Amino acid sequence: MMESSWLLPDLEDPDGGPFWAGTARGELCVQHCAECGLPRMPPRPMCPACNSIRQQWRPTSGRGTIWSFVVPHPPLLPAFAELAPYNVVVVALDENPSLRFVGNLVASPDGAINEVDPQTIRIGEPVRVVFQKVEDVYFPRWLRSPGA
Ligand SMILES: [Zn+2]
Repeated sequence: MMESSWLLPDLEDPDGGPFWAGTARGELCVQHCAECGLPRMPPRPMCPACNSIRQQWRPTSGRGTIWSFVVPHPPLLPAFAELAPYNVVVVALDENPSLRFVGNLVASPDGAINEVDPQTIRIGEPVRVVFQKVEDVYFPRWLRSPGA
């Protein structure tokens, strides 16, 4: 477990809570409309297509490709300043590239967010999700998945 000054999500939040329950099980889940089946990420109370508030959560493969990335530099929040430069990637899921997750590309599940040289990151690289426990939260992060 990692000590942290990170801002942690509210695990009881009615929209986001099921996502974090999924990560605690080792699953990257996406909210779907229970009426029309439309997936939506980030989660929200109502379907933008049919206005239903019925929802269900489905696990994904946890596999995707790097759709974009940035390399933050100071000024940054204090918890992040000493780690800069690091990477922030946007991952498009294999099963539906319109579903995108923001996270960090790391070399190991508990690795530091600056352990991958940003110069080596390429758009379109295959990645897979892993989870890092921070207090009571399991954060999704991304590992390279060559040959995927
Ligand atoms: Zn719907």
